[in-house]
Parts: sequence; C-alpha cells; structure tokens
Amino acid sequence: MAENRNKSSLIAIVSINLMVLSAMLTGCNARTPNLLSKSQEIQLGKQLSAEQAEQSQFITSGPEYERLKRVEAKLIPLAKADYDVPYTVQLIDSPEVNAFAAPGGPIYFYLGLMKLASSDDEVASVLGHEATHIVKRHSAKQISDQMLKSNLAAIFLGNQGELAQVAASLLINFQSMKFSRDDEGQSDENGFRYLVRAGYNPDAMASFFEKMGKAAGSSGSPEWLQSHPLTDTRVKKARQRAEDYKSTGALP
Ligand SMILES: [Zn+2]
Repeated sequence: MAENRNKSSLIAIVSINLMVLSAMLTGCNARTPNLLSKSQEIQLGKQLSAEQAEQSQFITSGPEYERLKRVEAKLIPLAKADYDVPYTVQLIDSPEVNAFAAPGGPIYFYLGLMKLASSDDEVASVLGHEATHIVKRHSAKQISDQMLKSNLAAIFLGNQGELAQVAASLLINFQSMKFSRDDEGQSDENGFRYLVRAGYNPDAMASFFEKMGKAAGSSGSPEWLQSHPLTDTRVKKARQRAEDYKSTGALP
C-alpha cells in the first residue's frame, strides 16, 4: 500500500515535470531551455574539475603561470560581476594549443596556448572568450539540449540527485565541446568587451586569431580551432570590432 503511494507520487512528480518541460518546449522561445540551475552548474563544474585534476599536471609557478594569474586578476572580476560563480583558472602542462571552460566556473589553459599568445593582451582575449561561455551559460544550454535529444531530461527532472550520472551518460567532453556559431559569436563579442574594459589592447583578439590561423597553416591545426572554427567572418568581425572601438570609443 505504502509502496504504491510512493510509486504514484513519483509518477506524479515526473509527469508534472514533463508538463513543465513540454510547456517550455512549446513556448514562444525557440531556443533550448536551460534545465540546469546555477547551483547544479556549480556542482557539475566541481565534479568536472576533480576529474580534470586526476588527469592533468598543473603548472603553479613560472612566467606563463604568472602571466595567466595577472590577466585573471584583471579580467575575472568583470565576469563575476555579470554572473557570480566560483571561477578558477588553471594552467595545464601540455603542448596543446587549447583552452576551455566548464559550467559553473572552472577554466583551463594549456601551456601550448600560453606560448603562442605571447602578450597579456592576447591571453586576455582568450580568457574573455572562455569566461563568456560561463557567464552566458552556454555549457548548461548544451547539456540541456543533449538531455532533450537523448530523452534524459525527464529522468533528470524527475530525480534531481542524478545530475552526475546524467552528465556522465551523455559522455560530455568539455575539452572539445562545440558550441553553436551564435554562442561562439556571443563569446567573441562579450569577450572583446572584457578585454577592453580590463584595459588590454583592443587589437589583441584579431591578432591572436590571425596567429592561430598561421599556426594552423604550418604545423597542424591548434586544438582550440577544432572546437572554435576560425572562419573568415570571425576574423573580420574581430578586426572590425577593434577598428570601430578605436574610432568611436564605443563598445559593441
Ligand atoms: Zn568558444
């Protein structure tokens, strides 16, 4: 008897959540609904950073580390003012030219990217881009999208404790997660605002993209470009934003 009641209340919770879900899906907003709360994003980010710590060797001293920490100190407060989560920026000892952000705060830079980005300004242009993925909650949207496509959303909504398992079953790989072109565009544009507001050279994003393009032409494509295709439009927009800012003093 008691067991039946428990079962039916569970069914009731799941079906209410399904109603909420279908209401979100059929709503006038065609974009994917975000099924993760801020605290779930933070929880997921902590879990991912524990996993990352097991697989990676971090650099915690030396010139590249100092440079990254210097840029972090100027730029991350701007991101935190927009979306308050516990940001961490870590440097992975690997020659890969890569950087990525996980939901809820963790950001990773690879030594290979730090060596290619030879100035603080260029490091800031990548950090601004990656921080914006967190601020605009692009990963959470991506996870929500994958959950909906794989019918895991109802399970997740019916049992909030299962976040870790759901995330694991989606085989989410944040190191190579591809965002939509719109989300990438938003990260470039808002990243540019952080770059300038933190006091860095407005040309740095365009110059770093051009450098990436050259590296791709010579010695194998930098890993960052695999999740961040460097289209002509993207480079042109970065150059245009810098030119517009320098001539008008207005941020996009
Ligand atoms: Zn990106």
